[in-house]
This record gives sequence, C-alpha cells and structure tokens, in this order.
Amino acid sequence: MTAPESAPSNFIKDIITEDNKTGKYRGRVHTRFPPEPNGYLHIGHAKSICLNFGIAAEFKGLCNLRMDDTNPTKEEVEYVESIKQDVRWVGFDWQERMYYASNYFERFYECAVDLIKKGRAYVCDLSPDEMRQYRGTLTEPGKESPYRGRSVEENLDLFERMRKGEFPDGSRTLRAKIDMTSGNINMRDPVIYRILHSEHHMTGDKWCIYPMYDYAHCISDSIEGITHSICTLEFEDHRPLYDWFLDELGMYHPQQIEFARLNLTYTVMSKRKFIQLVEGGYVRGWDDPRMPTISGLRRRGYTPESIRNFCDRIGVAKAASTVDMALLEYCIREDLNRRAPRMMAVLRPLKIIITNYPEDKVDELDAINNPEDPSAGTRKVPFSRELYIEQEDFMEDPPKKFFRLAPGREVRLRYAYFIKCVDVVKDGAGNITELHCTYDPATRGGDAPDGRKVKATLHWVSAEHSLAAEVRLYDYLFAQPNPEEGTGDKDFISKLNPKSLEVLQDCRVEPGLSGASPGNKYQFERLGYFCVDQDSSPEKLIFNRTVTLKDTWVKIQNANK
Ligand code: ATP
Ligand code: MG
Repeated sequence: MTAPESAPSNFIKDIITEDNKTGKYRGRVHTRFPPEPNGYLHIGHAKSICLNFGIAAEFKGLCNLRMDDTNPTKEEVEYVESIKQDVRWVGFDWQERMYYASNYFERFYECAVDLIKKGRAYVCDLSPDEMRQYRGTLTEPGKESPYRGRSVEENLDLFERMRKGEFPDGSRTLRAKIDMTSGNINMRDPVIYRILHSEHHMTGDKWCIYPMYDYAHCISDSIEGITHSICTLEFEDHRPLYDWFLDELGMYHPQQIEFARLNLTYTVMSKRKFIQLVEGGYVRGWDDPRMPTISGLRRRGYTPESIRNFCDRIGVAKAASTVDMALLEYCIREDLNRRAPRMMAVLRPLKIIITNYPEDKVDELDAINNPEDPSAGTRKVPFSRELYIEQEDFMEDPPKKFFRLAPGREVRLRYAYFIKCVDVVKDGAGNITELHCTYDPATRGGDAPDGRKVKATLHWVSAEHSLAAEVRLYDYLFAQPNPEEGTGDKDFISKLNPKSLEVLQDCRVEPGLSGASPGNKYQFERLGYFCVDQDSSPEKLIFNRTVTLKDTWVKIQNANK
C-alpha cells in the first residue's frame, strides 16, 4: 500500500488517534472505500480513496474496496471494472478485501425480518406519491401511514411474498417504524426495501426486492468490521438512521464520520452529470481528457503521484469549499517538471529557409533532456536548411513588446544558432508562406562570441527530419468557474465551454519522438506538458496537452498574500 509521502494531520486522524488511546476499537483501524458502480470514478473519489486507504496505511490498519451495488437499474460490470482499475492506478491495494454489498443480500433480508419481528418495520402500501404527502416537510411533521399498525404476522407474510415476486414494482415497501414527527426527515419511517423486478449484475434475477442505501450501508460496514465509516457531509443527517439500524439490530457498530466533498472550479463533480455529458455526446467518453474523471485525468497525462499530492494538499475538513482548478494543474506541473523529458514541437508551423546554409548539410546539435535532472543527459537534434518555427513567433509588423522574430531582426534558435529574418515570402492572397533567414555559424550552441544579445529564444524543428503529429489542446470543460450554481438539473450543460477542445492536425515534432508510446509524457519547450494519447501509433502520433507552462496557482497565491 502506498502511503502519502508526508500526509498532514486532519480532524479524522485526530478522532482515530483518540479512539486508539481510549481503546474504543482496541486499536483496530479498518476503513473502506464504497463506490456505487453507477459510473466512472472522479477526482472527488480520489480524495476519498486517498483518505480511506491513506489512513489505513498510516495507522497500520486495513481498507476494503466495496461495491455499494444495491441499485440494479443503474449499475454495470463495466463500471465495476473501471473502479478497480482506477483505485489501483491511484496507487492503492485492497489485497483480498474486495466486497460487494450484493453479497450480503441474504443478510440484509434476515435483518429486515428481525426488525419486523421486533415491531420495528412494517410493510406499507402507500404509493410513492402518497408517501411523499404523508412525509411532511421541514416545518411540518409527517402523518403515520394507515398500514403502520399491521401485525408482525401480516408483515412477515407480506414481506416474504414481496420477495417471492407476488407484487408489482412500487406497489409496496418495507419501512422502518421510527417517528413520523421527527425533526429529521430521514427518521420519518424511511423505506428500507422496495420492489424492483430488475436483473442485478451480480445476483441476476434472484431478487426482486432491493434494500435502500441507508439500510444496506450501515449493515455492510458492520459485517466487515469497519471501525471508522468515512463519508461525505450530505450523510450527516443520515447518521441517526445509521446508528438506529445497528442499535435496533444489536449489531457491531462502526463510527460514521463526515467530511466535506471535493468541489473544483470550472467543472461539475457528479457521476449523474457526467453520464449526461457522455450520453449527450458533449464529450468523447468517460475518459475524455477534459473530464475530471480519474480515467480522463490519466488520459490527459496526470500521474498518480500528482493526484495523491493534490489530495494531500487540499486536506480534509468539515466545511464545504471549492478548490481552484489551478491547484490541480500546479500539482501535475510540479511533478512533470521534475520528470518529463524536454522535446521540441511546433504546433502551427511556419517554414523557414536558412539561405546561407548548405542544402545537404545536417548538423547534429546537443540538447539538454531535462535541466531539472542532469542524469537525464543530452540528445542530438538535427538542424538543416529548412526548418519550422511557430507561426505566432513571427510578426511582420511587430508591436513594441513583441521581441520574437520580425523582418530584419535576429533571434536565437534553441540549442542551435542565431538567425535573422531577411525576407518574407507570400502567396497571391498575401498570406505568409515562408521566411528567408540567414544564420550565423559562430553562434552554434546559442551564444555570440562578440557578445551581441538577442531578446528571444525560439523552439523549432528541422522540416525534413521532423515527424507529423496531431496535437489536442484543452481548455476548461465549463466556461464558468461555478457551473453547478443555479437551479435546473440540466442548466450546467448550457455552461459548457464551446472552446474546450482544439485539434491541430499539422504539427511537427522532433524525430526523437518517433518511439513515443501511449502514456509517455514530455515537456514541449515553451508549450507545456504533453502526453501521448492512447490512440497514438507510429503511423499517426497523437499528443494531448496536459497543461500549459503558465502557473496561475502561484500567481493566485501571491495575489492573496
Ligand atoms: P456522485 O454524486 O459523483 O455519484 P457519490 O457520492 O454518489 O458521488 P459514490 O460512488 O457513492 O459516489 O461514492 C463513493 C465514495 O466516494 C463515498 O464514500 C463518497 O462519499 C465519496 N465521494 C464521492 N464524491 C466525492 C467528492 N466529491 N469528494 C470526496 N469524496 C467523494
Ligand atoms: Mg452515491
């Protein structure tokens, strides 16, 4: 199990330390990560994964992976597999402790029978609509169901027949008998079983009644001997119910602890919303590099280290907050700065002819692979008469603050020579087709022996030696920092950023990238960090830009000082 490098303390660890002192669980620490397999995991889940597995590692305890699969209509094997892959990729190992709530269906049923026998549960025939009317509101108490007084025998009989499939979906429920006047609506006789004639990905057609989340979750925790059941804040109001079930059943009782879920700027954070984006075709799939899913981040070029580091930095608190996307980007930049080899690539090529350079000559120039890591060494980069530079590195009529190439001006080509633009060649329509430049052989390696200076250093590739590549540039998926704000369930779709993806087909990259394979990560000098896409092949290289080199996070930090 990978422990976070230097995980800071938080209120949950404080609670566990205290429990260990008092011997509440005899020093045992056992957590679980319990996703519902109804979608792919996102960066919010990574926070929960790092927290649960991280705590287990730190306290020399255990952490289970549990599929909370009690809702057959929304769950799929594809999601189960992706969850396993993603948890492993983030860097954690559940060893042999992979569980499914659906494995406990028989136990849940027995517990329900137990509650009925204790007079703590009853079969209710109210329709969903009627039940809503009976429930009351935050300010008004609810009304007792007319079926609340059924005898234990009648309840046992009806519940058994519910299981046997005698009744249609929605016609009956099993409810806990608690208190219809409770100030906490969750305690107003909540439903614990519903009828649903639906195939389950694990149990097939064995069951046609399914337990509700609040009921199944606490019993699952109890069965697995969980000590600290860590969940997000929205379950705080459900904790009395969690406790009620286990107390009434007289079962081993874990402690539920709530923390604030992760929210990020410029994105939504819910599987339900991601499904709408995927099914609506707004993104290319769950692993679209614009998605804050773990698979999307992986495809985008994020590393597990950067994600674990991010989760450490954001910490764990009780108060809801939204984390700036710039922090996530900062974390991957910091990691790749250390590790990613530097390369040169030209995204929007502008041809340059070095008129005083011999036609057949090729120079092999030394380039540094990673200035942050001397052990990465150097490589050779070919230089020849025809080169490409970035279109935006040239201006025919430059404004004052533009220091890059312009007619009559000299700049440095990285690791190569000074070049000077002597002529601008255009087509009939007046578009620039190429530049004619001269180079100064005395400046090989990048400096002039006579001490003359240039104000810009440009990246470049040799036209003949470079390789064609497709490069995908990404911007925020949403145009607004807070797309979750506002009401309607579909509102967030209208806030999508129409410019979140730009595909460049005619890029040129240095020949050293010929062997680049999916997942490899590089810094393209001056352009950002890039990762080879999973659809890339030697015949067609495809790169995703993970992040630019502009660090907005440090800027934000400084502005707040
Ligand atoms: P979603 O709304 O995206 O479906 P969920 O909470 O319903 O999220 P689950 O599969 O039930 O998703 O979550 C598994 C675990 O991950 C739970 O313990 C949940 O509290 C936690 N979790 C989910 N979203 C976040 C988040 N944004 N930040 C931190 N933890 C989260
Ligand atoms: Mg959920």
